[in-house]
Amino acid sequence: MKSSQLLIPTLRDDPGEAETVSHRLMLRAGLIRKVAAGIYTYLPLGLRVIRKIEQIIREEMNRAGAQELLMPIASPAELWQETARWDYYGKELLRFKDRHERDFCLGPTHEEVITDLFRREVRSYRQLPLNFYQIQTKFRDEIRPRFGLMRGREFIMKDAYSFDIDETGAKITYQKMYDAYTRIFTRCGLTFRAVEADTGLIGGDISHEFMVLADTGEATVAYSDQGSYAANLERAEVLPSTEVDMTALRPLTPIATPQRRTVEDVTTFLQIPPRQLVKTLLYRAGTETVAVLIRGDHEANEVKLARLLKVTDVVLADAETVQHVTGAPPGFAGPVGLQQVRILADHAIKGMKNVVIGANTSDTHYQNANLDRDFTVEQFADLRNAQAGDPSPRGPGMLTLAKGIEVGQVFLLGTKYSHKMNAAVLDDQGKERFALMGCYGIGIGRTAAAAIEQHHDEKGIIWPFPIAPFHVHLLTVSQSAKTTEAAARLYTDLMDADFEVLWDDRADRAGVKFNDADLIGAPFQIVIGDKGLADGIVEFKIRRSGIKSRIAPDDLVAHLGKLSTEADPSAA
Ligand code: ATP
Ligand code: MG
Repeated sequence: MKSSQLLIPTLRDDPGEAETVSHRLMLRAGLIRKVAAGIYTYLPLGLRVIRKIEQIIREEMNRAGAQELLMPIASPAELWQETARWDYYGKELLRFKDRHERDFCLGPTHEEVITDLFRREVRSYRQLPLNFYQIQTKFRDEIRPRFGLMRGREFIMKDAYSFDIDETGAKITYQKMYDAYTRIFTRCGLTFRAVEADTGLIGGDISHEFMVLADTGEATVAYSDQGSYAANLERAEVLPSTEVDMTALRPLTPIATPQRRTVEDVTTFLQIPPRQLVKTLLYRAGTETVAVLIRGDHEANEVKLARLLKVTDVVLADAETVQHVTGAPPGFAGPVGLQQVRILADHAIKGMKNVVIGANTSDTHYQNANLDRDFTVEQFADLRNAQAGDPSPRGPGMLTLAKGIEVGQVFLLGTKYSHKMNAAVLDDQGKERFALMGCYGIGIGRTAAAAIEQHHDEKGIIWPFPIAPFHVHLLTVSQSAKTTEAAARLYTDLMDADFEVLWDDRADRAGVKFNDADLIGAPFQIVIGDKGLADGIVEFKIRRSGIKSRIAPDDLVAHLGKLSTEADPSAA
């Protein structure tokens, strides 16, 4: 295609609103434009990238035996009420009423709709396994949409749903999807890692997230430096500590800690290491308030707490609740004499002696507080985040932490939805059985953004060949008839050889064209001008390495053929 006929509104300067590289470069390279918070138009170049990723996904899903269909974006409340997610999903679910006052929502995910289809259309185990997928626009009214396509409200997702007659079958299907995801993200040119994941609002038993490792990732991954263990930090297990402090118990002593509320303030003031303090965190969990004891140098893990308490969400209690429960302002809560709420503690608390802890009195802590003697704990559990250096919970090694972008997630759901929605088929004995389901999502826009996070330099994007909007950027640096004619010939020859070519035929200065080409990031650039043509050559540049060479126009197709096979080995 010719630049003169395409809308590619590149920006020279960084747009102020963009915090991450991928968001910045997507705006600057003219891939997307914002319409409202978390809602974007995909411009022609951006859409080409999206379509490329979709195509890779289609090929791999079809190869894995899944079939494509397309469900509606709007779905009726009745379906969501059957699984109770109409209430459970909260504000992320965008609801509306039609003209007859019937409740609808815009689908954030499609378990209900597909399970409804399945129960109406499928009767026998002989029809299984079945795996359906769609590539479709989703809507989630995210509380903080940000980073461009990375966390939008309206975004394109590939979602798949599988149905098997038994657990063995479901696990085979899950593994097939896991393998397909591995092929998809490899083909997209990403460096990623599959990690054990929490199942969140989707539910189910087993789940993996596919994480693209990048500093701008919103998720944290914990992985073993020697073994294969890798998990989302939300989920990464911490083994109960075997450390026991053998120090003799000293008497409980109140100590003035004026205005010292945080772990850092208190431990600096008392000149003790943070691991000698126990913080008491008050949480609102559903309708209950609970106190959670965590060692001073550890971080509480709210996902683990929510799972333990079987609620969807936990939030730190507000100042008023803290005052009401402890009789003191926030910063001085402690378990000694705390009566109104249940006290839970992380495993690490068990072996600690003579700790510093809040005294439920303004500006006061206790020194030498001891479990069982001064306070009791109703339940110990794994309630903290894993830390770098913790032993791997399974297999050898110690944990290391890294940032990751979740581009896809696979779930083994079991009968969670089929049971609630009565989606059963007859087995070989003629008995009704609930189908065992799995679901599998990939964020298409987020995958494109993640690719930019991993593939860019200070000049712009460096697209992996298989998802580049164009393979070759052809730049004419003269408007002469000779150059235009040579460019036109090359343009046709390359397209005849199945290369996607963007011809910058604008009358702009060469410098402007070079900058735009580096910004847009096609893997290969060809510069044609009068001077080179006089020598019988064009200039060829590999975007990633910056290496330039002079090549006779007639040799280009063969040269590119070789380079592109190297750049996309999996497509063969
Ligand atoms: P997150 O934890 O990042 O909010 P999620 O776990 O809720 O994501 P899933 O329900 O697993 O998301 O959805 C499948 C995939 O859809 C995700 O792996 C991600 O790639 C993509 N996705 C989810 N939410 C968004 C969003 N707001 N914007 C863009 N892509 C998204
Ligand atoms: Mg997810």
